[in-house]
Amino acid sequence: MREEINELLRLIPSMDELLSNPWVAEYEKFLNRNAVKSVFAEVIGEVRRDLRLGKITMVDPLVIEQEARKRLERRSRRSLKPLVNATGVIVHTNLGRSCLAEEAAHAALEASRRYTTLEYDLTEGKRGQRNDHVEWLLCQLTGADAACVVNNNAGAVLLCLSALVAGKEVIISRGELVEIGGSFRIPEILAFSGARMVDVGTTNRTSLEDYERAITEQTAMLLKVHPSNYRIVGFHEETSRKDLCRLAREKSLLVMEDLGSGMLVDPHIEELPQEATVGTCIEEGVDLVTFSGDKLLGGPQIGGIVGRAQLIKKLLSFPLYRALRVDKMTLAAFEVTLRLYLEGKTARIPTLSLLQFPKEGLKKKAQHLRRRLQRLLPEGVFDVVPVEDAVGGGAFPECPLQGYAVSVFLPWIGGGNAGLLQNLLREGEDPIVAGASENRVLLHVRTLLEGDEERIERAFLALCSRKETEESR
Ligand SMILES: *Cc1c(COP(=O)(O)O)cnc(C)c1O
Repeated sequence: MREEINELLRLIPSMDELLSNPWVAEYEKFLNRNAVKSVFAEVIGEVRRDLRLGKITMVDPLVIEQEARKRLERRSRRSLKPLVNATGVIVHTNLGRSCLAEEAAHAALEASRRYTTLEYDLTEGKRGQRNDHVEWLLCQLTGADAACVVNNNAGAVLLCLSALVAGKEVIISRGELVEIGGSFRIPEILAFSGARMVDVGTTNRTSLEDYERAITEQTAMLLKVHPSNYRIVGFHEETSRKDLCRLAREKSLLVMEDLGSGMLVDPHIEELPQEATVGTCIEEGVDLVTFSGDKLLGGPQIGGIVGRAQLIKKLLSFPLYRALRVDKMTLAAFEVTLRLYLEGKTARIPTLSLLQFPKEGLKKKAQHLRRRLQRLLPEGVFDVVPVEDAVGGGAFPECPLQGYAVSVFLPWIGGGNAGLLQNLLREGEDPIVAGASENRVLLHVRTLLEGDEERIERAFLALCSRKETEESR
């Protein structure tokens, strides 16, 4: 047994043998010699381990070379790159949430290439505050007295709790002890901040009396959390924001609300119920509201905090703030995004314009794409079909948006296998992430941006040449 394994181990190509392959030079253009070696070492190590564990019982040096080459290929290419979102999910967290308005993207690019006023006051000719670029704008848009921004909303919540209520009690409804995804769990954030969580009520019903009864000498805050992608339907009661704020005033407690998606304006979409904007929360008396910049707001990844000036001041001088501070490119993009709101040019913000896309327009867009693809691949089957799109980002999970897609059936791809076609579209030069239903791939047109139709066309053209090679076999 031992002998046999030793025999097989000797068949594994050595590092020097692998390095002597003529194709290595191709990858050394992108990766230095040490990086190439580490990829080889990884493959050799895995084969050795699998042999010893009995997971494999033979060794083919050619297969090992191919595997090594495949990994070099992948390591040589850019990993974070643009793709075509044909899923119809507007704020798709895995696909980078919001796309910036042109103006905002340009501001980020400029800030990245040149020196800026990031922390410099031109009037005084001395040091300024990076927060100053957006505070006044956020106050105008929300009616708050003061504002600041950090890396993301998770950071915003953590900063507020750590700086304001560590060591004290925070009362929260059991219906709001949610996990947002990506391991952001409210009870864990509360514990990490040093605040003591006091959960009240039940999963489906929490009344004002529940909060009131739980208040002690140690209580510092009533916390309200938007349940985001989680919904309680049926027998359900939630304490109103106004009642909660009134109770807090009476007892001299803070009210904080983690609003999640953080809309600055009501988008007025027929299919969606009305949701509180950041401004509504402030108007109804919440002391601090936190929200994400890259969900329905449509800006870069940021955590916004608006509320009472003396609280914001405490946040800015708390050491954690420095660890969560926003970089210049993000801040530049965020400032310009906020200015678009103030100028009333929200149609320039992709997240909002995709959300408000008229249904007729979507149908036309789908028909146009269908015609182009059908012309390109006459033997493919392309149809315009109604589909359900989604807001995404944990917002309005139970409210699909009516959309349109081009459904695709290519009989020569694995006998019309939709899963295989999805894979091929994903792995192409210009990756396309699409939906599927039964044996059809669905290209949702709502989330297609400028230039995406041409990218899809190129991808299908590549599938066309695949057809020719398969036929000539
Ligand atoms: C999305 C969300 C978060 C996390 O926000 P990030 O900006 O991703 O850090 C926190 N709370 C709620 C309610 C959310 O919806």
